[in-house]
Amino acid sequence: MAKQFFNYLVIGAGSGGIASARRAALLKPSLKIAVIEKARPGGTCVNVGCVPKKVMFMTATVNEALHDAKDYGFDIVKKNKFDWAMLKEKRDAYVKRLNGIYTSNLGKDNITYIQGAAKFTGPRTISVEGVEYEGEHVLIAVGGRPTIPNIPGAELCDTSDEFFEWDTLPNKVLVIGAGYIAVEIAGILHNLGVDTTLVARRGAILRSFDHDIGKNLMSEMSDAGQKVQYHTNPDAIEKAEDGTFTFKGTVSEPGQEPKQIALEGFEKVMFAIGRHANTETLGLDKTGVNTDSRGQILVDEFQQTSAEGVYAVGDVCGKALLTPVAIAAGRHLSHRIFNSEPDRKLSYENIPTVVFSHPPIGTVGLTQAEAEEKYGAANIKIHQSTFTNMYFAMTTRKPKTYMKLICEGTEEKIVGLHVMGLGADEMMQGFSIAVVAGATKKQFDSTVAIHPTSAEEFVTMNWGLSTKS
Ligand code: FAD
Ligand code: NDP
Repeated sequence: MAKQFFNYLVIGAGSGGIASARRAALLKPSLKIAVIEKARPGGTCVNVGCVPKKVMFMTATVNEALHDAKDYGFDIVKKNKFDWAMLKEKRDAYVKRLNGIYTSNLGKDNITYIQGAAKFTGPRTISVEGVEYEGEHVLIAVGGRPTIPNIPGAELCDTSDEFFEWDTLPNKVLVIGAGYIAVEIAGILHNLGVDTTLVARRGAILRSFDHDIGKNLMSEMSDAGQKVQYHTNPDAIEKAEDGTFTFKGTVSEPGQEPKQIALEGFEKVMFAIGRHANTETLGLDKTGVNTDSRGQILVDEFQQTSAEGVYAVGDVCGKALLTPVAIAAGRHLSHRIFNSEPDRKLSYENIPTVVFSHPPIGTVGLTQAEAEEKYGAANIKIHQSTFTNMYFAMTTRKPKTYMKLICEGTEEKIVGLHVMGLGADEMMQGFSIAVVAGATKKQFDSTVAIHPTSAEEFVTMNWGLSTKS
């Protein structure tokens, strides 16, 4: 059978693939475009990532508010237990509705949707379930999947993918990892009343974030009764006769002899230790697309791979694994290829991000360590503040808010802005515009505060004391 030709052949109907395909269709409606997807439209974010995760974060947040309600004078009697099954059904239906919207949007844009796993058979030819397709331009946007370690019993454990399939809420869970997913899911479970233990292989969580942010979150988690087992490497997971799991690990605290530990009685054990690019079965050897030792596709700043006419965006490139990054890179790419804008590219600097922890974290720009490394410690000035959000003035629990501004040079240009505390998730987007625009501390100081909010602290912190007004 003859190959079917497309001007733009996109592999992966996730955040990056769909965004790039739809932008190409918008820029040039005459293009023949196809998107190939082996699973569900929407990719990780919609099906097993941001979307169902945020529903669960909000569920846990509702439970926090229910606990606080009596402190605000509400005589609330929690008659019924939390109905996990009902929420899961509604969440799944919401995701399914989004799947439908994604498919119908592709149809509206005249983009062909091809269901099946794609594999390269030549430089820009791809086979899907025995049918061959050829692309003038090919985008690889196949994302990644959770990493499973090579230790005995790992196959008995869950990942974030399975978390979204749980039919019941377990009583006792062990989450291994200390990054975004481990912290977010452990936080959700803990706030839903599950006996949750987080296992971190080092002495800190969220180590890629500013150290003070990680430190403050560790302190809040500890105050909230969230168990964390630090300095512990997983060795094996065993299943007991009663169906529960035992975690075996080695604790290696600095200056102490390593010791073996066993933690028992878990209904679920989850690994959240990073993600692997979905490139092994793509037949990349047929295209000349180079990968690094972890299988992540190597691209230049324009998302160009080592093969002519073949591009890659999103998680598969292993850099800033975030939905808006995949979307932006995919859209810029389409402008570059199909709209004669040769310089269009995504800047990977100052990417804002939020961890939906309890309390949440928002961050943009450099950590203090990165800023000191880049500009020299003598050229960095730190402004920071710790306070209690007014919401907690009425409550028995008193989580803190921590904010940090990292400023560079005599102008005190803000090169890093970090916050942990209630509302951090929603306050971050606006502040990230200021940082991207190159705002200085003086400009923050000259912005009138909005009172009473928590965000105002960013423009009142050490007000007018650092630079001459
Ligand atoms: P994906 O969205 O993974 O899409 C890739 C698609 O390619 C998939 O649908 C896959 O089935 C398909 N595919 C793979 N191989 C083939 C093949 N051979 N043929 C055909 N199709 C193929 N990011 C945020 O910004 N905010 C968040 O709050 C957030 N929360 C997250 C929570 C979790 C639990 C996880 C796991 C991730 C989260 N992320 C979040 C990250 C975000 O989901 C990803 O960065 C984003 O989905 C990456 O988009 P992508 O297009 O690169 O890949
Ligand atoms: P992360 O890269 O965030 O964190 C991985 C964690 O796993 C690190 O803490 C690391 O420890 C630990 N780790 C790695 N290998 C091992 C091992 N062999 N044994 C024990 N621990 C190990 O990955 P995640 O899986 O949490 O998330 C993947 C990506 O998805 C994130 O990087 C993020 O980009 C994206 N995401 C974004 C979200 C958001 O925007 N809110 C939410 C969820 C995911 P160490 O600290 O020692 O290096």
